[in-house]
Amino acid sequence: LVEIRGVHKSFGELEVLRGIDLRITPGSVTVILGPSGSGKSTLLRTINHLEPVTRGLISVDGDVIGYRRDGDLLHELHEREVLRQRTAIGMVFQGFNLFAHMTALGNITEAPRRALGVPRREAEARARELLDLVGLSDKEQVYPRQLSGGQQQRVAIARALALEPKVLLFDEPTSALDPELVEEVLAVIRSLARAGTTLVIVTHEIPFARDVADTVVFMDHGRIIEQGPPAEVLDAPRHERTRSFLATVR
Ligand code: ATP
Ligand code: MG
Repeated sequence: LVEIRGVHKSFGELEVLRGIDLRITPGSVTVILGPSGSGKSTLLRTINHLEPVTRGLISVDGDVIGYRRDGDLLHELHEREVLRQRTAIGMVFQGFNLFAHMTALGNITEAPRRALGVPRREAEARARELLDLVGLSDKEQVYPRQLSGGQQQRVAIARALALEPKVLLFDEPTSALDPELVEEVLAVIRSLARAGTTLVIVTHEIPFARDVADTVVFMDHGRIIEQGPPAEVLDAPRHERTRSFLATVR
């Protein structure tokens, strides 16, 4: 369970998140929508502590991200401990971000070996299962530059899954792809959703959101304007701002 409570985030004078409350239950799929600059990426980045919050708390299965509980007090964690916490939270970015000098297999085994000390053979066996899962069994010895954008993104998904995260965050995973490559990546995410992986996805792919989301969250100016099942938020939005946003992406 991911709990986001009263989260504010400012960059200097600019308040980007203005009191976000959100619960992400195990096995659920949450899709976040909203105009450019509304704070979607910042929210995802606060969940894995790439951005520390200005106010509020984020916890994953009771562990406060970035802090250690000591009775009622919270002590800031050292970077090394934050890195360990972060292994519970997978993230897939718009731009793939694969290690260019490593093969697909190397990309997937790197974090489990380094962060969790998984032995090489074990990490490789798991990586092969994950490559199979994303439909790239034949690409294990291939380098990122030899892969299409869609294939690179599928390797990035396998890499994120290798740490067996409690929740997997996607920030516009298909928006840098050529249109014909979008569906192969969405298909992989859809299969993860069906398998019960806990997912939080920022995307503007509305039909996909309607298909996979348990909860759709619409954000604007750092606030959640409305949230609920796709049949409500996408098909019968209550707020004018949601309606006008949806009109721009359809
Ligand atoms: P998009 O749909 O364009 O990706 P977004 O909803 O993901 O938008 P964010 O990237 O979260 O929006 O940005 C929200 C606001 O915070 C923007 O005004 C952005 O310029 C600002 N911002 C984000 N990161 C930083 C930073 N590191 N320093 C200063 N301002 C930032
Ligand atoms: Mg963004």
